[in-house]
Amino acid sequence: MESILSCGRWLRSDRVVEVRSPYTGEVVGRVGQATVKQVNDAINSAKSYRCSLTAFERSEVLSRTADRIHADAEVFMRSIVDETGNARKDAATEVRRAVAQLRFGAEEAKRLVGESITTDVTDYGARRLAVTLVEPIGLVCAITPFNRPLNQVATKVVPALAVGDSVLVKPSEKAPLTAVLFVRALLDSGLPAEMISLVTGDPREIGDALVGSDLIDMVTFTGSAAVGKAIARRIGMIRSAFELGDSGALVVADDADLTAAAAAAAAGAFSTAGQSCRGVKRILVHEDVADAFTDLLVAAAERLTVGDPWDAKTDIGTLIDEQAAGQVESRVAEAVNRGARLRAGGHRHGAQFWPTVLDHVDRDAPLVREETFGPCAPVIRVGGMDEAMNYLNSGRYGLQTGVFTQRIGDAMKMARGLQAGAVVINGGPQFESPNIPFGGVKDSGHGREGVRYAMREMSRIKTLVL
Ligand code: NAD
Repeated sequence: MESILSCGRWLRSDRVVEVRSPYTGEVVGRVGQATVKQVNDAINSAKSYRCSLTAFERSEVLSRTADRIHADAEVFMRSIVDETGNARKDAATEVRRAVAQLRFGAEEAKRLVGESITTDVTDYGARRLAVTLVEPIGLVCAITPFNRPLNQVATKVVPALAVGDSVLVKPSEKAPLTAVLFVRALLDSGLPAEMISLVTGDPREIGDALVGSDLIDMVTFTGSAAVGKAIARRIGMIRSAFELGDSGALVVADDADLTAAAAAAAAGAFSTAGQSCRGVKRILVHEDVADAFTDLLVAAAERLTVGDPWDAKTDIGTLIDEQAAGQVESRVAEAVNRGARLRAGGHRHGAQFWPTVLDHVDRDAPLVREETFGPCAPVIRVGGMDEAMNYLNSGRYGLQTGVFTQRIGDAMKMARGLQAGAVVINGGPQFESPNIPFGGVKDSGHGREGVRYAMREMSRIKTLVL
């Protein structure tokens, strides 16, 4: 089984991880299960390489990879749908986003610029010129989650290569197949073999070798808060970026455009079957408009089709596995036990879970206090914007929050007061664009993605004084 890539050399592995479709249960692919020795060998080989590509050449590689993935979109979509059970529509969006990231990265690779700074700014200052040089950080270890298995890898690999770093990718063992396709596309597009390695396997076995090595210059991790925090404790002084979970919120004021707010809530809560870090996981709605808003949301949920992820008409395929769907089911049941009213969905079949709307949700229910990775739209009724903000700020997460209001003063108050990485006014927290910073505060992590911002994190500044 050739899926372990050590600086461009595919290694055979006798130990195999079978990847099954969450929809059919059939084996859709196999990857090797790397050993600690293979991980260490990959790190050692990658470490000894220094990128000699010019900015133009790095840009060209990213650009050619974008063209290749665009041309092979069907293959990438098939892989995403096969291994995650995401609906074909969601897989198409993911491929489009990955291509956009590559194209944007190809442009940004040519814009790595430092600063010139005068030093005569103190009473003891000398008139010298300082210049900052932007250098690659070295070897980046990129650990990615199961959801959006193409985009999550691209989000880390594109800025690293744009800067001139080497990357060791460790995709999720639940969805590793698309990552293998992605690195093949990079190599086929002319990336020097030494700049990319990929290891698949059991994180309990190889996790420590990956994040405990002194030869790694940066760990960039996307995944759950629990695993992220454990890795943070392990890595010590190594540069890091952690993109962790969220219980993403949408706030709907009494003057909100309810039709637009309900559409944003439905898109944020139900796309990719609710398995998105920036999805809508709870909706704080002013009590005066909660009935009307919830009716619109229920209608939106009932319009969605749950079914065969390959069918172009399907809106919601499956969750990543039956266990994940079971956890959503039990959180919904617990919220109902605490008094929530189930207005739509709530049922499960295997790894499928129907789009669910709950009203009058207790704000301390684990369904909304914790991150619930499934197609649920729980409505919490609030008396006003201040109450919504205080509640959200009392929680452990803070990635992106959406706020619907027509009052500019309230919008700005929420934007300034919310403890979050980003606030989207009159839109859902799911908003994304490759050229804006993305990342969290508190248990949602630290570090910023978005090509240009990740490039800063993945590079070093050296100061030259003339
Ligand atoms: P997870 O934390 O279980 O796994 C993430 C990755 O960490 C996987 O590759 C896994 O193999 C690896 N891993 C697990 N234990 C490890 C160890 N001890 N050492 C090294 N690596 C280890 O997360 P998941 O279930 O795959 O993904 C879902 C989570 O990811 C959700 O919490 C979601 O919110 C979060 N997420 C966050 C963002 C973001 O940008 N903030 C984006 C997508 C997903």
